[in-house]
Amino acid sequence: MSDPGGRAPDILIRGGTLVDAAGARPGDVMIVGERIAGVGAGLPDEGADVVDASGALVVPGGIDVHTHFDLPVGGVRSADDFETGTMAAACGGTTCVVDFAGAGRESPEEALAEWHAKASHRAVVDYAFHVTLTAVPEEDDRAQEMFRWLLGQGVSSVKLYMAYPDRLMVDDATLARALATGAATGVLVCVHAEDGMAVERAVAETFRDGRTDPLTHARVRPPEVEAEAVRRAGDLARAARAPIHIVHLSSAAGLEAVRAARSRGARIFVETCPQYLWLTEDRLAGPAETTQNFVCAPPLRTEQDTRALWDGLADGSIDLVATDHCPFTTADRREGVRGGGWSNFTEIPGGLPGVETRLGLIYQGVRDGRYSAERWVELCAGAPARVFGLSRSKGQLREGFDADVVVFDPEAHRSLDAGHLHMATDHSPYAGMDVTGWPALTFARGRLVAKGGDPADAEGGWGRFVPRSARQSG
Ligand SMILES: [Zn+2]
Repeated sequence: MSDPGGRAPDILIRGGTLVDAAGARPGDVMIVGERIAGVGAGLPDEGADVVDASGALVVPGGIDVHTHFDLPVGGVRSADDFETGTMAAACGGTTCVVDFAGAGRESPEEALAEWHAKASHRAVVDYAFHVTLTAVPEEDDRAQEMFRWLLGQGVSSVKLYMAYPDRLMVDDATLARALATGAATGVLVCVHAEDGMAVERAVAETFRDGRTDPLTHARVRPPEVEAEAVRRAGDLARAARAPIHIVHLSSAAGLEAVRAARSRGARIFVETCPQYLWLTEDRLAGPAETTQNFVCAPPLRTEQDTRALWDGLADGSIDLVATDHCPFTTADRREGVRGGGWSNFTEIPGGLPGVETRLGLIYQGVRDGRYSAERWVELCAGAPARVFGLSRSKGQLREGFDADVVVFDPEAHRSLDAGHLHMATDHSPYAGMDVTGWPALTFARGRLVAKGGDPADAEGGWGRFVPRSARQSG
């Protein structure tokens, strides 16, 4: 162990309601050093710092498998780096993030080297990487060599885009090759499922009509664009006999396409994000100065879509919640990706802040009676760990696991205004909203990194890279 401040004191979290895949039950959690040393009722506390968790939920730290820290997007850059982003994560009860390494055209080697340099000595909580791919070698053995090299680097998932033909989009043959290589090696293929060519056609049409405002951004990326891509990705995955993960699913039509593909035999994991549950496209209508802050892709949808997604979380058809955390400052959005101010919606850097607010927002589903506290923990920690190869050390309260533990106060009130949050942006998409239920204490590998939703003994460099393993088949 390399605890820079000496061995962390032993801690006993006493008398809370423990919640994870083993159910919800009263009990204690004993932390020794960086690990959970015991879970159960009436654990001995001699010599330990005792935390009274009565009335609180004691849960495994959140795992956010979709963040974009320190990501260059044209002439601007996502506002959070690994220090501010993981600090904000800790304040909101997330103790591990999986960030997307690579901005497009670099090799996997270059992308990983660059992302390790960004994260090491800065991250406050543990982190891992996916790699974004824009090409896959044509020859089977070379493609497998690339994926096995990634596994050797602790990277067990890649992402390909079905959108953004100018920068990132791959054709179906490339996606099919990635899936076949994933099936052969155990690397999980993730896709951004939007039909990029359909979007391009719609954009050209709106420009001819002279429409340039943020609401048009939602009009050119309707739910059918997502559903069509999900259908295509599902068929390719089924043909390759490979599992596939759909990132940031946003619509009722997309979810229907997932269910249909599964019924045809495709093995599909699905994530959605809080913005698609809480926000709707009317945020994009109005003065551009404020509506530009709600541009993300896929775009915000309708009330009916949010209801379908909440139902999907409850009935199990959506596996997990991540954030697609990719904040920009208001000034950077105004600046546009080319740096001269934006003149139409395609130039607004897209993405919302979210790494800090996920646990609290998804907990509201428990308060509203949509699902149980166990389901909430499964969506935010258990399933992300299992799907993304972290379940040997994270995602559950188990002896021997990393002491990533959150004491969650189900009655704490939190304002979601930017001034009460720690993400490095000047606006919050949830401004004006208060939630009930927020982390009281966040332990990251045994260290108290946040208290009462604010940074505590947090230090850049405490977070370590976590190598991930291939999913077990089955
Ligand atoms: Zn993303």
